[in-house]
Amino acid sequence: MMIMDLKQNIQYLKGIGPQKSKALKKIGIENIYDLLTYYPKRYSDQSELTPISMVNAGTLVNITGRLLNIQEKVSRRGMKITTALLADDSATIQIIWFNQPFIKKTLKIGSNIFIRGKADYAYGGYGHMTINQVASYSVLENNEVECKFLPLYTLPETIKPKFFRQIISTVLTDLQKVPCALPLSIRTRYKLVDKKTALQYIHQPQNKDEITAARRMLIFEELFIMQCGLIYRRKINSQNRRGIRYLANSNLTNKLYQQLPFKLTIDQQNVWREICHDMESPIPMQRLLQGDVGSGKTVIALLALVKTIENGYQGALMAPTEILAKQHFVNFCRTLTKLDIKVGLLTGSLSSKEHEDALGKIATGEWQIIIGTHALIQDKVIFAKLGFVVTDEQHRFGIEQRARLETKASYTPDVLVMTATPIPRTMTLTVYGDLDISSIKHLPPGRKPIRTFLRTKSARDKIYKFVYQQINAGRQAYVVCPLIETSENIAAVSAEAVYEELTHTVFKNISCALLHGKLNTKNKEQIMNDFFTNKIKLLVSTTVIEVGVNVPNASIMVIEGADRFGLAQLHQLRGRIGRGPYNSYCILLSDNKSDKSKQRLTLMEKVNDGFKLAEADLQLRGPGQFFGTMQHGLPDLKIADVLNDTDILLNARNEAEQWCHTQNNIAAIIETIKLQYKNNFFKIFDT
Ligand code: ADP
Ligand code: MG
Repeated sequence: MMIMDLKQNIQYLKGIGPQKSKALKKIGIENIYDLLTYYPKRYSDQSELTPISMVNAGTLVNITGRLLNIQEKVSRRGMKITTALLADDSATIQIIWFNQPFIKKTLKIGSNIFIRGKADYAYGGYGHMTINQVASYSVLENNEVECKFLPLYTLPETIKPKFFRQIISTVLTDLQKVPCALPLSIRTRYKLVDKKTALQYIHQPQNKDEITAARRMLIFEELFIMQCGLIYRRKINSQNRRGIRYLANSNLTNKLYQQLPFKLTIDQQNVWREICHDMESPIPMQRLLQGDVGSGKTVIALLALVKTIENGYQGALMAPTEILAKQHFVNFCRTLTKLDIKVGLLTGSLSSKEHEDALGKIATGEWQIIIGTHALIQDKVIFAKLGFVVTDEQHRFGIEQRARLETKASYTPDVLVMTATPIPRTMTLTVYGDLDISSIKHLPPGRKPIRTFLRTKSARDKIYKFVYQQINAGRQAYVVCPLIETSENIAAVSAEAVYEELTHTVFKNISCALLHGKLNTKNKEQIMNDFFTNKIKLLVSTTVIEVGVNVPNASIMVIEGADRFGLAQLHQLRGRIGRGPYNSYCILLSDNKSDKSKQRLTLMEKVNDGFKLAEADLQLRGPGQFFGTMQHGLPDLKIADVLNDTDILLNARNEAEQWCHTQNNIAAIIETIKLQYKNNFFKIFDT
């Protein structure tokens, strides 16, 4: 038996040459460890097999059979259709693939094939039984037909399943021991098998129990590793870096407090207390503040920034868009000049002279509070004495960007991350596992709930008449569209087309404007200003107005092509209205007839609470897309699913916390993290 190194390149394994190794690299397999942790998608379970004679229309079935015949033809519309005839002892059945011409080359007549797919009658219900939606298929070698749980992998065309299974089998036999990130004590406590056994079970199971046992161990280990990584990062932040200990004195904050036109809600007061506590401790603050749109997060940021100034440090606030940065700037100036605090703005659209000037004022400390966009994290920006960093609407920034702003000081500044996308608990443990969390759960008093309606395009004329009446009554309105300009490839409404149409019909005599991301900043600002000062009554726009924009007189919003937006995004959008004392209406227009789309949009009508919506959205769309829109910056998990494996996640979290707490040296775990995720875990992880 030879001793294998897990990091050894697979290219040197028997049977894998440069070509195969290239194909494997495409699916992320470079070394032995990658190979072993490339887990089966599912198993062909003979006990779940349906005899072909028993296949029913409309059901998802697993069948195996001998391939009698395979043909390809091209339909009149140019679609490539592959049909195969499969037989077992009980009957024959036709299998159909659409536009997958390589299938004919992969499947040989006479071989045994496993198919998982949905059955239906051919010719729209009148013909013979077929499987016309194939979910997966696999060629079974003769000796494998008897194997009860055959692992099925997602593989490139050039890698034959049998070959892949053989390689794994060779490696598993030759391998003596696989290091496990889970300490023995934890494995014992949770009755988890060792890693080598788990890998054997997952790739070569003899029964269902082995698969279950393997999955439990591997999921636990994966989540444990991830949690250790997050805890480790946090630990580095709090130990190796010096934090600031702010004093509890509060002359300035008290002054600000008294100037506010409202009293903080109980939730806001609690959050403010938590933040003060963090700021006054020497450990750098890493806190996420979540609160629905309009819940009043800005004032909290303002208080914290003022406390920063009072202690002689600079504060920065990073917003995701120029519009939002500008808006914060204007608001802050209004309040802060009375307190004699100098506020500056740094965005990408400053002239080079203004930019130079801004950099100077930041570097000398003349500007005490700096508000900006991504421009804040450029290398050229050097702060005199940065003590506090706020990122607004965090979901727009990746973890990396957040970290870059934090590293702009020689000691660690306190960090407050604000988000209006309520993040379900399982997510906060994973994506935001390195942050403490504060929540504003209730909106300030006196808000009128926004009434949301889902309508089809047939109601469009009526709706715009209603908008017209509202404008005549003194209100302002938003019309939001999914695209800027009409596109040949995407069948969705564009802001340009809607603007053209509306300004020539119903709103002929009303001042309207078109706002989208392609306009230059000056134009955008002018339009937003005019909208804010009520010169513009109707704003047709793309999602550039999604975050933060605050115009209390705007009380109505029409969202065209609403099915093209995510629920969280729709909720953000509608958060632009309902900010004043008026009845507010959000009208979602959609002609999408699919059940899923209707189901999602109906939720918008019923649910006004962003947190509940996010949970529902997560359930409906799955974590992939949900995460996708959040640009979380975390690697994909190989086997765990944070939505379904919540129980394990919570246990892994607790164990990781204790483990990292009592063990000074988590070097072994860091090794595994690197093995598991290469250098993608956090790019900033190694720095
Ligand atoms: P978001 O959390 O979405 O950033 P904002 O901070 O923009 O919300 O607050 C929305 C509006 O609510 C602002 O006009 C703000 O002045 C107002 N507001 C904030 N806190 C309170 C409060 N305690 N009572 C009344 N109004 C408040
Ligand atoms: Mg805000």
